[in-house]
Amino acid sequence: MEPAEKRIRPILRLLAKAYPASRTALAFENPLEILVATILSAQCTDERVNKLTPALFRRYPDAAAYARADREELEAAIRPTGFFRNKAKNIMGAARTIVSAFGGRVPDTMEELVTLPGVARKTANIVLSSAFGKAEGIAVDVHVARISGRLGLSRQTVPEKIERDLLRLVPREFWLDFNFMLVNHGRAVCQARKPNCPVCTLASLCPRIGVKTASRASRE
Ligand code: SF4
Repeated sequence: MEPAEKRIRPILRLLAKAYPASRTALAFENPLEILVATILSAQCTDERVNKLTPALFRRYPDAAAYARADREELEAAIRPTGFFRNKAKNIMGAARTIVSAFGGRVPDTMEELVTLPGVARKTANIVLSSAFGKAEGIAVDVHVARISGRLGLSRQTVPEKIERDLLRLVPREFWLDFNFMLVNHGRAVCQARKPNCPVCTLASLCPRIGVKTASRASRE
């Protein structure tokens, strides 16, 4: 198998062809909404988040509303997304910083976004790319981490280190879409437990690192 540097362009071409409209599936209309939706989407499906955000966004229309929210009421509103206590804490903490340090507006740089409580590079990357069309990095979530490993694009397991490898390999014009293409691919084909390699568009370019063969997997 050729080194990752040689395979990356064909991989990106095939992914772009397979998932032409790769953008976040989270529903939002402004930077604050995508920030909150992204926090809620941790360990939860986008569909479930999208079900409750219309009412949530009406109830809390701006950062000030979250900052002064009744914690228990907010927790109840987001409970179906799981880990609701921690998520409520993060949303309220982020909102307070947005109000106190950024005049109520979600900042649009990586340096500023990661100063918000509960906002790491992954969330910041999604906000920057989705709300501001900015590519300052590649958001590494479970799908990106898993598939990057299987494709041999990174041997790392820590998101920040995987991102560093990807930023070296992936041309900048693909940074915005890379996360969304891999999330789509991870959901449709390269699933965690059962990657469907026989039908995968990337099959001829993938060393399938760490993927068990069907016979081995079925014995376990
Ligand atoms: S060939 Fe298999 S392991 Fe590689 S990307 Fe496709 S589904 Fe995933």
